[in-house]
Amino acid sequence: MELDDINTIAVLGAGNMGHGIAEVAAMAGYDVNMRDIKEEFVQDGYDQIEWSLNKLAENDQLSEEEADAALERVTPLVDMEEACGNADVVIEAVPEKMEIKQDVYEELEAAAPDRAIFATNTSSLSITDLAEFTDRPEQFCGMHFFNPPVRMPLVEVISGAESDEETLDLIEDLAADFDKSPVRVHKDSPGFIVNRILVPLMNEACWLVHEDEATIAEVDSTTKYDMGLPMGSFELGDQVGNDISYHVLDYMHDVLGDAYEPCPLLEEKVENEELGKKTGKGFYDYEDGEGAEIPTDEQSDLVKERLTATMANEVAKLIGGDVAPPESIDEATKLGAGFPDGPVKLADEFGLETVLEALEEAHEKTGHERYEPADYLQERAEEVGSFYEADEDEDGGVEFEAIRIEHPGEMVGHIVLDRPHRMNTISGELLDELSEAVDILEEDDEVRSILITGEGDRAFSAGADVQSMAAGGADPLGAVELSKKGQSTFGKLEAADIPVVAGIDGYCLGGGMELSTCADIRVASERSQFGQPELDLGLIPGWGGTQRLANVIGEGPAKEIILTADRYEADEMKRFGFVTDVVDNADLEERAFELAADLAGGPPIATKYTKRAMLAGRHDTDAGLEYEAAAFGQLMATDDLMEGITAFMGDEDPEFEGK
Ligand code: NAD
Repeated sequence: MELDDINTIAVLGAGNMGHGIAEVAAMAGYDVNMRDIKEEFVQDGYDQIEWSLNKLAENDQLSEEEADAALERVTPLVDMEEACGNADVVIEAVPEKMEIKQDVYEELEAAAPDRAIFATNTSSLSITDLAEFTDRPEQFCGMHFFNPPVRMPLVEVISGAESDEETLDLIEDLAADFDKSPVRVHKDSPGFIVNRILVPLMNEACWLVHEDEATIAEVDSTTKYDMGLPMGSFELGDQVGNDISYHVLDYMHDVLGDAYEPCPLLEEKVENEELGKKTGKGFYDYEDGEGAEIPTDEQSDLVKERLTATMANEVAKLIGGDVAPPESIDEATKLGAGFPDGPVKLADEFGLETVLEALEEAHEKTGHERYEPADYLQERAEEVGSFYEADEDEDGGVEFEAIRIEHPGEMVGHIVLDRPHRMNTISGELLDELSEAVDILEEDDEVRSILITGEGDRAFSAGADVQSMAAGGADPLGAVELSKKGQSTFGKLEAADIPVVAGIDGYCLGGGMELSTCADIRVASERSQFGQPELDLGLIPGWGGTQRLANVIGEGPAKEIILTADRYEADEMKRFGFVTDVVDNADLEERAFELAADLAGGPPIATKYTKRAMLAGRHDTDAGLEYEAAAFGQLMATDDLMEGITAFMGDEDPEFEGK
């Protein structure tokens, strides 16, 4: 069967995941039969799909007509025969109990046509074991969505022992057609990729507290503000649900042994029904307390070392066991858990020798099996020192992580801001790579203009990576440097001898807007939103915004945008003269490329001199930039900034005191 042959998809279970998967499939244009065991359950799932589609339409992520058409394609059903009799693909999302799934597969096998492919959304059960309940293990595999399926881009596509290559390819194609990013898991191994990293990490966080090595505050402060993960370990645990982590861990313990022994602290939480956010209390108290209040300054080297070592050891087991290669592990963890950098990269940066030493030391001290280094870790630490090979690609031998360079033809060099899981926010790494990319493209004789866009349809760039900024702590000198680095990196675009076009689709905020300000010409899609929200955080635009925006649109409008910190629609930005053109969302990419190609066709020398002359004719921007960077540094040490960032992260209104 090919992707084109798939018309009807049956989704079994209309619960949390089932209704979300059905919605995603319907949005991609498939006819969806959604089945649950009771009328009220399917109806409930159907109502949730309707609610969610309306929300997407309200937020302009879908037109009203598209939302209506998607809902129209979903048929809620209770009868198995009706739901699956004509299905090309069946995606199962019934409760995580072997016996329930067994019954469902036996019933399904009798109802579904021979051609149908079965995929299970199980988070922890063995794909190989589940496949055994059917007569078609080769037409069976895992298709693991993340919660909520509508928003989470990752789908792990997992091979069972007998899954055919064609089955896996087809399910991967289907996930891509759902507008998701599939990552292949080559072996059916507990936790697949993302949970295999997250759950032992959670367990280790518990052990550290249980064994009095650290406090919860220290663990979460380190995880969030030093390691730069999107949440504290305990915060994440509470979000996921302590029962779910425990359940997956318990399964790993059964299959993989004592290295995965659940920590008594986690067990205790589950016994006391302190399951996290959903029960109002977990490691933090969400009802009577303040929820996850994580200090920015209680970082601990030991915590970082142990947590990194734990992840590295799991990474080694996954790579060494041929479950997945390093790239897939990093991609899956970034997409599925919002890690800014994947665990393989984190481990490499920490150094595998240091990781190995940390594990050996901890093993000696505690005697616990979880610290026993994996064979593959030992091998890589001793022979290479990293998981990734130090390889080179065609773009001047530089491996980019946060951006991509593409060569779409017509002498256009295309830079894509490539952190869609973080709304293409700007990290230190992204700045370094952008700087490098501009050099590469400027030196390339085959490139006569630069086009910059953001990956995905949510954001050109939603700003600076606030978390990585907060991770720097209140260090004024570091902040001045960071400000100057952004100013000069973006300034390279302004000063480049070839023209630069920014194609803006989605959020273009803060640092992202400052970046786009340095392009020579900007075009935007209708749904784009602009703004310089820095003042809401008690900051100032520190990457050139106080100087360059006024250069482009004049001081009056620039002051309005910066001082109000409001959001502006694309049309308003066109009236300000910031964007030259506003086009239909679907046409943005083409229009931006056309413009870049058009400029690339212009006379290179005259273009170069024009840009230089116009830049030279500006008043003393450098003095302004100097002042901006110094002010940015001063603001780092203010209480207002902490207030601003804390309020931002907690989605509350800041109360500034002017201190
Ligand atoms: P859920 O309890 O919300 O939904 C399960 C639904 O299946 C219920 O509506 C139930 O009535 C229905 N059901 C029970 N027996 C059925 C049958 N015989 N036929 C059809 N429907 C039946 O559970 P969920 O959170 O949606 O999880 C479903 C699956 O997805 C599980 O395997 C789980 O491990 C996996 N998963 C869950 C998450 C998550 O975050 N919740 C994430 C990824 C994967």
